[in-house]
Amino acid sequence: MEDIYVVGHKSPDTDSVASAIVYAGIKGYKAAVAGELNPETVFVLSKFGVKTPEIFANAEGKKVILVDHNETSQMADDKSEVVGVVDHHKLSMSVSKPISVRVEPVGATATIVAGMYMDEVKANPAWAGLLLSAILSDTVIFKSPTTTEEDRVMAVTLADVCGIKDPVAYGIEMKKVNASIVGKDIRSVIGADFKDFEMGGKKVGIGAVEVVDMSEVAARKGEILSRLTELKGDGYEMVIFAATDIINEGSELFFAGDKALIEKAFGVQIGDSASVYIKGLMSRKKQIVPPLEEAYKNI
Ligand code: MG
Ligand code: MG
Ligand code: MG
Repeated sequence: MEDIYVVGHKSPDTDSVASAIVYAGIKGYKAAVAGELNPETVFVLSKFGVKTPEIFANAEGKKVILVDHNETSQMADDKSEVVGVVDHHKLSMSVSKPISVRVEPVGATATIVAGMYMDEVKANPAWAGLLLSAILSDTVIFKSPTTTEEDRVMAVTLADVCGIKDPVAYGIEMKKVNASIVGKDIRSVIGADFKDFEMGGKKVGIGAVEVVDMSEVAARKGEILSRLTELKGDGYEMVIFAATDIINEGSELFFAGDKALIEKAFGVQIGDSASVYIKGLMSRKKQIVPPLEEAYKNI
C-alpha cells in the first residue's frame, strides 16, 4: 500500500503535531511535521515518551492528510496530494476531486481527533496526553474565546486517561516552557509575533507575547521601551508591545507614540509612564486593533 502521511502546518504547534501523531497512529499512516518543533511541543512529546515525527520534505506527489490547517500556503509541501483534512480553521482549500474533510468549530484539532477515535485513545494514555496538551495549548488553558464546551469535556476525559490530575496546573507548566522571556534577546521577544497595521493613514506596529510570569516582563521594561522607541524611529507613528498574562488574564501594553491616543483608545489614565496594564485584555485581533483604529479615526 502506498504510504499516506498525516501532517500539520508550517511553524508546527502542539495541536498540529499531536493531532498528526495520534491520527496517523490510529489509522496506520505515517506522522510527519512541517518543520522544527517549538519548545512547548518538544516538552509535551518528551513528557509522554513519544518520539518526534520525521520532517516532511520533498513530498511532491505524496499523499497527505492535513491536520490543523487547510491552506495551501501553510502546507509543508504544496506539491503533495491532499487526500483528507481534519481541521478547526475556516475551510479555504479547493481540491480537484472528492476527499474526506472533517472541519468543526472547536478550540483544537485534537478535540476532533479525540471525538472520532475515543476508544483507541482510551487504550493509549500517551495519545490521550498528547491530545490533552494540544487542547490546553490551542485554547490557552480554556481562556481563549475559541474554547467550546466540547473542548472542556474532552480535556477532562483525556486527563483521566493519561493520569493528569490537574489539567490547568499542567497547562501552566506546559505554557511556561514557551512563555519565558528570560535570557531571550529583546528584539526577538518583540519581533517574534509582530504585525504592521495602517490606521488613519499612519503606520502602527503591534507586537505580542504570552507570558505566565509578568515579573519577567517588568524586569525588562527599560529594554522593551528603548526597543519600541528604536522601532518608532524606523517609520512607525506608534509601536505597541502587548505582554499578555495568561494566568491573570490581562495585558501590559508598552508603547512608543502618542500617549493621549492610547488613553483615548483604551479608556485609561496612564500618568507618567509608557505602559499600562489592562485587565481582561487577551487578544490583539479583538481587543487592541479595533479600539486603536477607532481612536485614529477620531483624531
Ligand atoms: Mg495550529
Ligand atoms: Mg489548532
Ligand atoms: Mg495555535
